[in-house]
Amino acid sequence: MHKHSEMILLDKALGIVDGCAASIALDTEMIDVRDSAGRVLACDAVSQLALPPFNKSAMDGYAVMDGDERDEYEVLEFIAAGCVPTLALKPATASKVMTGAPVPQGAGKVIMVEFTEEADGVVKVSRHSEKSNICVMGEDVKPGDVVLKAPVSLGALEVANLISCGISKVQVFKKVRVAILSTGDEIVDDPEDIAPGKIMDSNGPLLAGLCGKYALDVTCQSAVKDDRQSTAQAIKSALLSSDIVILSGGVSMGDLDFVDTAMGDIGLKVHFNRLAVKPGRPMTFASADNKAVFGLPGNPVSVYLMFHLFVLRAAMTAYGMKPAELIELPISEDFKRKKTDRALFAPGVITTGGKVKPVKYHGSAHLIALMKADGFFFVEKGIGAIAVDEKVKFMRVK
Ligand code: AMP
Ligand code: MG
Repeated sequence: MHKHSEMILLDKALGIVDGCAASIALDTEMIDVRDSAGRVLACDAVSQLALPPFNKSAMDGYAVMDGDERDEYEVLEFIAAGCVPTLALKPATASKVMTGAPVPQGAGKVIMVEFTEEADGVVKVSRHSEKSNICVMGEDVKPGDVVLKAPVSLGALEVANLISCGISKVQVFKKVRVAILSTGDEIVDDPEDIAPGKIMDSNGPLLAGLCGKYALDVTCQSAVKDDRQSTAQAIKSALLSSDIVILSGGVSMGDLDFVDTAMGDIGLKVHFNRLAVKPGRPMTFASADNKAVFGLPGNPVSVYLMFHLFVLRAAMTAYGMKPAELIELPISEDFKRKKTDRALFAPGVITTGGKVKPVKYHGSAHLIALMKADGFFFVEKGIGAIAVDEKVKFMRVK
């Protein structure tokens, strides 16, 4: 594919990536629910229990019959959480219940302990209220209810809900396998190896960290020399152990940028290699059978953006999930730019007032500036100015 070809528009590029990512086939596996945080549920989860599992007191107090309002009651028994009542209520009787304990048969409400005084087997009540203070069996969940519909990412809250519904095993997708290749003769891994012309490889660890954050399985991470054959060979072997290969660098117009030619050499279909987005013009995308290969630009800001814009989206699509929608927020100041031939994603921070404030940065190599940003705001191709308080689309990445 020629490097001087026209830049592809963002929406078209996203559509191509979505189409290829949908063909990534993931196996499923049954795992312990307690190991499932970070995984994607592959089958709907059905509750095994009613929640609450019995009529339960929401307060420490005295259970009495519905409508049986009096100044005092005979106390029948004491029921702690984890115990079962042994006596049914009758008019003019009450049983002392603790929060979380089952209420006795016939209970219509629980009078809070704060409004009572007990002596010699009799409880005096100073105030009756309307509230029943009883959680009714099955009012939250019934056995057989679908607790979570697949596919969905499981976080702490989801796992806790599955556990409270009596689910002990869940069917999840195997993690999307990702190979990371950092290209460039200039990159080193050890500050001891820094010499004139050399830089630390930050893209590899950046991508590996992002994969970890989104529970993708990094199956290989290595550096590749700026050499056509080595690049082709590295992609070929990375494909053996992965669903997605992410390269960084080697996609620009330089004499030693071999990534897209190497992709072609090993029979991949290169779909595009110029994107009408700033930063990220040399973004390259190729596919093989059920696999996606991303040639991200070398500059770290582009890598960070393109991971969220394309790679994460491809992984989500592989799991059958929809990519996150961009949110809309007002911008905190006037924004202007000169060239409008590409869409722009610029770093921004969300202020306490809920506006997007542009973060100052020197361009796509300025990785350190990104630590101040919550994400990127979007400026459409052809748009050169946004007035203060106009709404912008914002891709939150933190
Ligand atoms: P390239 O697209 O290979 O020309 O790279 C563009 C810029 O990104 C160059 O300044 C590279 O030195 C830099 N770069 C490439 N790879 C990395 C990396 N792994 N970590 C940090 N910077 C990189
Ligand atoms: Mg390079």
